[in-house]
Amino acid sequence: MDFVFPPHPVASLPVVASAQRFPVRRIFCVGRNYADHAREMGALEQAEGREPPFFFSKPGDALVGGLGRIEVAYPPQTANLHHEIELVVALGAGGANVAVDAAKSLIFGYAVGLDLTRRDLQARAKEKGHPWDMGKGFDQSAVAGAIAPASQCGYPENGRIWLTVNGETRQDGDLNAMMWKVPEIIANLSTLVRLEAGDLIYTGTPAGVGPLVRGDELVAGIDGVGSLRAGIV
Ligand code: MN
Repeated sequence: MDFVFPPHPVASLPVVASAQRFPVRRIFCVGRNYADHAREMGALEQAEGREPPFFFSKPGDALVGGLGRIEVAYPPQTANLHHEIELVVALGAGGANVAVDAAKSLIFGYAVGLDLTRRDLQARAKEKGHPWDMGKGFDQSAVAGAIAPASQCGYPENGRIWLTVNGETRQDGDLNAMMWKVPEIIANLSTLVRLEAGDLIYTGTPAGVGPLVRGDELVAGIDGVGSLRAGIV
C-alpha cells in the first residue's frame, strides 16, 4: 500500500520470558473500581452501591512501557499529575457481548500499570461537564510493565497492589477489593464496543492517589503479576 507518509509503528509491550512482544491496539480504563478510591474522590454513590462500571480511554500510542526503569516526561499544562497503580488486562482475543463466564478466555495476560492523570484538568472537566480526555489521555499517560501470560500466572483475583514514591508507600490495596471483577469488566465493556486482541484494560486504582513531581522514582507491584519501575523526568 502506498501511504502519504510511513504509518506509525504499533505500540507494544514485552512479554515475560519471551522474545515476542504484545502489539497494543486500544487502551480502555475503568473509573472508580475500588470503594476506598471512589470515596477519596468524593463519589459516594459509587463507593456505596454497585453503580454500573464506567469507562474512558487513552490512545494506544499514549503507552510507555518495558522491562527496566521507564522514563516518563512530566506532561505539559498541569500542576497536579497523579499516580494511579492498576492491574492491566491484556486481551489475546476479541468479541462482542461476551458472557461473564467466557470472559477469561479472551485474556492473554496481565501487567502492572499506571493510569497517569492530570488531576487539575480532569477536575475542571468534571466541573464543566466536559470530556476527561485531556486529563487522562495525554502522551505517556499509560505506563505498563511487561505482560505476564495468564498461561503462567493464572487469574490474579487476590493479592497486594502497591506503589511507592521515593521509597515511601503511597498506595497499598488488594485486588479482591475491586467492585467489578475482571470478567464482569470485560463482559460489560464488550456490550459497548467490539473488543479485539491487543486491547488493554486498566481496571481501576485503590486509594492513595497523589501528586508526582520531576525527580520522583516510582516502584509498583502486584502479587503474582510483577513489578514496574518508573522515573518522572
Ligand atoms: Mn484509573
